[in-house]
Formats: sequence, C-alpha cells, structure tokens
Amino acid sequence: MTILDVQDLTASYGAAQALFGVDLRVAEGEVVAMMGRNGMGKTTTVKAICRMIPSQGHLTFAGQSLHLLPSHKAARLGIGLAPEGRRCFRDLSVEENLLATSRPGAWTLATVADLFPRLEERKHQLAASLSGGEQQMLAIGRALMTNPRLLILDEATEGLAPIIRQEIWTAIARLKRETGTSILLIDKSLKELSQVADRAVILARGKTVWTGKLSEITPEISGRYIGV
Ligand code: ATP
Repeated sequence: MTILDVQDLTASYGAAQALFGVDLRVAEGEVVAMMGRNGMGKTTTVKAICRMIPSQGHLTFAGQSLHLLPSHKAARLGIGLAPEGRRCFRDLSVEENLLATSRPGAWTLATVADLFPRLEERKHQLAASLSGGEQQMLAIGRALMTNPRLLILDEATEGLAPIIRQEIWTAIARLKRETGTSILLIDKSLKELSQVADRAVILARGKTVWTGKLSEITPEISGRYIGV
C-alpha cells in the first residue's frame, strides 16, 4: 500500500517558485532516499508534505488528500518529522522534549532510550546543552515519540562527526530491520543510503529528474545530479 503519494507538486515562496513538479511515492514499510544538490527543493518538498507551506498538485497520505486538511490535522495523521537544523526545544530537558509531542503507541521513553542510550544518560539535561549529534538523536527520538506511520529525516547526519554519523545510520538500519517503519530520508551520503534505502528519488531545480534503485545510480547520474 502507498502511504505517501506526491505527484506534480508545485510550491512557491511568495513570487519565487521553488517546486516545479515533484513526484515521489513511499510504500508502507519502504525506505526512500530523496537526493539532490543544495537548493534543489528537498526541504521545500518536506515542508509541503508537512503542510508548513502551501502547495499544489496531488498530495495524499494513506489515501487522504493532505490539501483538503488543515495543517494541524495533517500532522495528526501520522507524519513524524526530524527537521533540518534539528529544532529541539532548547530550554526543555531531553525527557520533556520527547514527551512534548508524544502520542500513544509502541514508541515510548523506554524504546527511544533503547535506540539512543545517550538520550537516556542525558534525560535531565537541557536540550541546549547537548552536542549537535545528541540534538539530532533527540530530534529523531521526538519524531518517533509521535508514533508516526511515516518518519521523515531531513539531513539527519549533516555536519556531524563520523562516529556520531555512524551511530545514526546504525539506528536507521535498526528502525528498518526491527520496526518496518516507512521512512523518507534526505541525505547525500550515497554509500550509507545504499545500505538502508530501497529506492531513491533525485530532485534538480525543484523537479523529480530520476527515480530508481540506489544500485542503479551510475557515476554519470550522481555526477550530474548529486555532485559526488
Ligand atoms: P539544501 O540541501 O541546501 O537544504 P534543498 O534541496 O533542501 O537544499 P530547498 O531548501 O528546498 O533546497 O530550497 C529550494 C529553493 O527554494 C532554493 O532556491 C532556495 O533558495 C529557495 N528557498 C528555500 N527556502 C526559502 C524561503 N524561506 N524563502 C525563499 N526562498 C526559499
């Protein structure tokens, strides 16, 4: 079953059009990578899916049109976002952050602590005092605490030390293996994405320009659209 279906999505910031026709599907239990160079529309697509900005085109989640719902209702349908830049509540503790937007389900403080033991060790610390990598783990943990049907991770490993990046990739692989959560992953690390993602969608200039298996991304395609 398709959980997220995006077709010919367009969106603008004021007069400046940023999306010109994004196509993207995520099936239940599937991990899809969204790739592309900086400024090509990945975060804008995420914002449109999460109804943080207006958009046009076909946009359904679990068969329901997101465009017909007010944005707060769209969030409650089950999209959990760990946004670019993490955006934790800096003046709340780790535990308070995790509980702030939690909803009942399999993900609890205990299961998040099992996935990210560092968060358990720091549960009484203010989010502002965490390292960048720990804040990223907190952002993912907070998204999981909403018990989403689709988890969206926007640049979850960007700018982090290699050892922390590895911990996050290991956690994503565990999520896929043990929980079968549907995940939309925005990242540029082709090697690590190849270990966890079933398919990739590549954006260029606000449009989907390529879709297929990670193993089908040739050096020519990655050179042209991803820049690696
Ligand atoms: P990155 O990897 O750098 O985050 P991206 O692929 O996520 O890149 P977007 O952030 O979606 O790209 O940007 C797509 C286009 O929209 C760019 O031309 C960008 O300059 C523009 N844009 C993004 N945010 C805004 C904004 N708040 N106001 C105006 N234009 C914006």
